[in-house]
Amino acid sequence: MPHPIPGIHHITAIAGDPQRNLDFYVHFLGLRLVKKTVNFDDPGTYHLYYGDSVGHPGSILTFFPWPGAYRGRPGTGEVSTVSFSVPEASLDYWVRRAGDAGVVLEGPTTRFDGERFVSFSDPDGMRIELVGDATSPEGWRPSAVPEAHTIRGFHGAVLSVSGYERTAKLLADSFGFNLAAQHENRFRFRASGSGGLGSRVDLLCQPDLSRAALGAGSVHHIAWRTEDDESQKQWRRHLASLDFDVTPVMDRQYFHSIYFREPGGVLFEIATDPPGFTFDESAGELGTGLKLPPWLEHRRTAIERVLPPLAMERVSSAKGEI
Ligand code: ZN
Repeated sequence: MPHPIPGIHHITAIAGDPQRNLDFYVHFLGLRLVKKTVNFDDPGTYHLYYGDSVGHPGSILTFFPWPGAYRGRPGTGEVSTVSFSVPEASLDYWVRRAGDAGVVLEGPTTRFDGERFVSFSDPDGMRIELVGDATSPEGWRPSAVPEAHTIRGFHGAVLSVSGYERTAKLLADSFGFNLAAQHENRFRFRASGSGGLGSRVDLLCQPDLSRAALGAGSVHHIAWRTEDDESQKQWRRHLASLDFDVTPVMDRQYFHSIYFREPGGVLFEIATDPPGFTFDESAGELGTGLKLPPWLEHRRTAIERVLPPLAMERVSSAKGEI
């Protein structure tokens, strides 16, 4: 058996306008743009990576922004909510910050044994929660948000599925997760390790919902951490032995990836922690240049010509526009 999964590595979603996406995640949520690159399978499209100070595994939310993309339709077989961890005492700060930015926020609300959270949508309709976590690690810089209140990384994610048992079996028997709580149709699983960032996943059993349709505001896939190439190979063998169709290893430049669809229909990836985002930029320079993998570098001029302009300064900043 491969080593247990310690938690989420990254989550990748689809957005509409790239500038509006950057304004929301960098200037409102205070994440750092840690990599500006292109979709390796569609190099006329950006791939934007947001995270903490250096994009540690467990903090990375990435987007493929397609200007004018149709909105997705929420449903089963997808990650329906992305949850971030903030200090418990910061929830009031975030309520005020959302009010100042014209972001409609719900909560604070309480769930399970006193877990407090607020929720809202990003400009494309993707559901986000900020969960107050007494065990949050230290804040970080540079961020548009004061260090004490920064998003620390993922708290977890919600998977909407029509029937939860087979997904639960994969999480428990292979990933090494434990069922930590249940309320009605929500099942909370936790990674077996020390309970760090991104170590929780909720299965929301929703048999009455139809299947999700992918589009702007949808999560495309969720990636889970593995320590290195060797452990990833073990995962590949293990998943194949369980009859999952699992891809060959893909070089994603900042990590190596395998993909498969879990029984509830959600696209899963298992990604290596190394080499990370300082692979082709120093920690200070992260996100400042358009980075291309070696196999696309010779097409740089053509690629730069078709990519829409993207300003690091806030553009759509007026109240209500994000
Ligand atoms: Zn991925």
